[in-house]
Amino acid sequence: MENKDKIRVCVIGAGPSGMSVLYQFAKLRKIPNIVCYEKQSTWGGIWNYTWRTGLDDNNEPCHSSLYKDLWTNAPKEANLEFPDYTFEKHFGKPVPSYPPAAAVRDYLQGRWTNACSTDLKQFIQFNTIVRFVKFENDNFVVTIDDRKKNMTKQEVFSHVVICSGVFNYPNQPEVPDIIKFEGRVMHSHNFRNANEFKGQTVLVIGSHYSGEDIALHCLKYGAKHIYISWRTQPTGLKWPKGIEERPGVTRFDAKNAYFKDGSRTAIDAVIFCTGFRNHFPYLDTNLRIGEDTSLYPDGLYKATLFLNGGNNKLFYIGAQDQLYSFNYFDCIASWVCKYILGELADEPKSGEKMKRDVTKWTSRVSTIASLKDVADFQTDLLAEICSSSGYDKSILKAVSLFVDWIRHREEDISDFRRHQFRSMYTGSLAPTQKPYMTIFDDSLETFLKC
Ligand code: FAD
Repeated sequence: MENKDKIRVCVIGAGPSGMSVLYQFAKLRKIPNIVCYEKQSTWGGIWNYTWRTGLDDNNEPCHSSLYKDLWTNAPKEANLEFPDYTFEKHFGKPVPSYPPAAAVRDYLQGRWTNACSTDLKQFIQFNTIVRFVKFENDNFVVTIDDRKKNMTKQEVFSHVVICSGVFNYPNQPEVPDIIKFEGRVMHSHNFRNANEFKGQTVLVIGSHYSGEDIALHCLKYGAKHIYISWRTQPTGLKWPKGIEERPGVTRFDAKNAYFKDGSRTAIDAVIFCTGFRNHFPYLDTNLRIGEDTSLYPDGLYKATLFLNGGNNKLFYIGAQDQLYSFNYFDCIASWVCKYILGELADEPKSGEKMKRDVTKWTSRVSTIASLKDVADFQTDLLAEICSSSGYDKSILKAVSLFVDWIRHREEDISDFRRHQFRSMYTGSLAPTQKPYMTIFDDSLETFLKC
């Protein structure tokens, strides 16, 4: 068992991942000396919608990529609901399966306050940016910038848990001659309000979740026509009238986009939905994982413990491609807390065993061919983590909900959100929801009237 007095934990980021670390320590009733640094003025991470783009109110890169009227893109029962704090418990009644962002944030905040006997805010230093982390003399030296006190200082920690998110540094590939295009060009990170594209023909580059959702969103808010260009293969989804797929863009001129199949179309705007980079600029280079996003970043034992530094004291949470999300972060956070406290006696001590385990998962990533494979992959991984840490294995039942969700998307991508799911924990069926394309009010109040 680790000598608790020597433990001093730094958590970077108070979004869902970082808050799960604080929450799980509190749940164990063994909170070590711990500080969570958060650059925003409140908790919630991505789920803090802001009108700002570019720089935030501290003149730092704006964190959130949320847009107005964003509704979750997978059922809350599968990847958002926590076994020990259900949506029904929070809202006092069952609520629809696909909540808007405001309801998600409210739920998170509820868990962090109502469901926890400890005041978690006392551990968070808001408006504080982590500028640099290096490992020396068996400890981490963390340089922080406290924007309210206008003070830069260094603190020493035994462990660091990186929870700073992976949806904030855009991946924006160069496309020939885009510089000649005269219309609006943006990345989804800066997309805030679809009304901007009313009456326009929009090219969405990228056909993953954000491309899908932003295309539908623009159509819903009155865009005239949307082209989605894909890189490797078409989505195969049945798009409503007004959205069509095209292969990759080869070049632009002032008014047109040209595609790989030789076609050309006049467009008004381009939205890059080309994903993000795993970018951790504040980490010493020898502490960073690779920049390419992945279902299982290489070098992370149990998808969290960074092996390359050889110190077994640095953790990443939430740094993988996501299907399971809040429940995944929470399960891993519970493992991390117990690992730091030295309570996982069965875990291997040898780096070699751990590296072999990492190889097992990273080689499986290359065999993944469908969303169902992704769900199976994460379920199997979580099963191992639950076995090690004792986290509630009921979360694994989510795999069958993902299967239904995949089918619903294939049946009708513009209205898969009409489906109702049953909570794995309460057994309650979610109430129905109006068709997604007809809901124009994402407020919590309206959602709760459903
Ligand atoms: P984040 O929520 O990104 O939180 C990271 C925190 O770290 C932030 O508060 C940030 O301010 C802080 N931070 C960053 N750098 C520093 C620094 N240097 N110093 C101090 N603090 C720092 N998931 C779903 O399950 N369902 C959805 O419907 C869904 N929709 C999404 C829609 C969009 C547009 C995006 C971008 C993501 C969506 N996600 C969704 C995934 C989302 O990433 C997760 O739900 C979740 O927010 C990730 O939590 P996190 O704590 O790992 O990261």
